[in-house]
Amino acid sequence: MKPLVLIVEDEPPQAELLKYNLERDGFRTALAGDGEEALLLAEEEAPDLVILDWMLPLLSGIEVCRRLRRQNTSAKLPIIMLTARGVESDRIRGLDSGADDYLVKPFSPNELLARVRAVMRRSVTAREDETIEYGGIRMDIGSHKVTRGERGIHLGPTEFRLLRVLMERPGHVFSREQLLDRAWGRDIYLETRTVDVHIRRLRQALNKGGAPDIIRTVRGFGYALDTDKD
Ligand code: CA
Repeated sequence: MKPLVLIVEDEPPQAELLKYNLERDGFRTALAGDGEEALLLAEEEAPDLVILDWMLPLLSGIEVCRRLRRQNTSAKLPIIMLTARGVESDRIRGLDSGADDYLVKPFSPNELLARVRAVMRRSVTAREDETIEYGGIRMDIGSHKVTRGERGIHLGPTEFRLLRVLMERPGHVFSREQLLDRAWGRDIYLETRTVDVHIRRLRQALNKGGAPDIIRTVRGFGYALDTDKD
């Protein structure tokens, strides 16, 4: 699946240039023209990386960055800040607000892509070493081990990927299409009820021994992981 980059930039020519270069290099892109839209799209689209302009209408890039960092679902989202100014204090403020890197305008496409790849690589490496925990379930990503409380849980590779997608954003309701995209890959065409089949298996594995059901079904739409689903 191609990684998704959210471009947050209010100047159309600059946004187009970013979009063009990223897509040519194999990324998918989404575009937000102001700070509010950026927060909304970061939540809805769950991008793999954000390129965030400093000077934006409604909310500054710095404020967007801070807010993204405060939310569980985007706390570790890779962010590259764009700044028109080369002022040292701005760069420091940018990194202080939680950006992973910054680029000073104007920059070359090669410079942009090199930074994007570097930040992405760091985040993937960090994620592969990670353990994710939610509602007593613990996933060790590197060793593919899952436990619920003291009990080891055996999952097939598809159920493992599905659980990982859900665990990375607890409480968020994913549509069946989004789960297909994320757990199977965007270029694979399957019927959405395939998701139901694998969710059923995942539920059985997680709930073995009478543990409370942690997967919330949103009828006609999709699924979420939720400890207070009732
Ligand atoms: Ca701007």
